[in-house]
Amino acid sequence: MSAQILANIAAVKNRISRACMAANRNPDTVKLLLATKTVPAAQISVALQAGHTLIAENKVQELKEKYGALKAVPHTSHFIGHLQTNKIKDLLKYEVSCIQALDRPDLAEKLHQRLLAENKTMEVLIQVNTSGEESKFGVHPDHVFELVNHVSKLETLKIKGLMTIGLFSTEAEKVRPCFRLLKNIQQQIINLNIPGVMMQELSMGMSGDLETAIAEGATIVRVGTAVFGRRVYPDRYYWNEDGMPGK
Ligand SMILES: *Cc1c(COP(=O)(O)O)cnc(C)c1O
Repeated sequence: MSAQILANIAAVKNRISRACMAANRNPDTVKLLLATKTVPAAQISVALQAGHTLIAENKVQELKEKYGALKAVPHTSHFIGHLQTNKIKDLLKYEVSCIQALDRPDLAEKLHQRLLAENKTMEVLIQVNTSGEESKFGVHPDHVFELVNHVSKLETLKIKGLMTIGLFSTEAEKVRPCFRLLKNIQQQIINLNIPGVMMQELSMGMSGDLETAIAEGATIVRVGTAVFGRRVYPDRYYWNEDGMPGK
């Protein structure tokens, strides 16, 4: 199992390098984030110990369950799932350094209130729904600017860029417009020069479409399946609220 995980990571790193070369980009400009939903802590630990230390969960419950086992191994933890406001307090106990799925003003407000109370700050990415699918979370492209403006005024939240889940398709040419749209929105936000708003990160691309994402400017690719194998739960369990009974 561990040998397989390490071989898989090497293969994914290879894909990243080749995609970067094809796009005339330095491979150091793309970070590999391991999406660890449903993966047991022991397997995640294999990757961490081999030096692949950027990981992310989708559910606070899973973060909590694995936290004790992973605490001793140095790593950076992001949160990539849909965050319910009633889970904020719990989430802040587990040393997450970036919330990648900030997609609505009420979440931003509640997060800010809690961070203020705890005297903490948090890096965030704004999640944009670039595929137009109603089943996906993320702010509508027309409302991104409003949300970024709003969040920029909350001093505990540090905007570092944007995140999206592309259209679920095996055809690169159907996914590409989603990534291109995110890049486009990033540029528009940069042009607005909003104080305190950084736009260096574009989190896009997963196991099936990371090459396309890198070609379109991804700086973080989020990979689960290609490293840890297939998951038992369908992704809708994580991507919308009518999946399975929530944990
Ligand atoms: C699960 C997940 C990923 C990784 O998807 P794979 O296809 O398994 O690589 C990336 N981003 C998010 C938000 C996820 O929930």
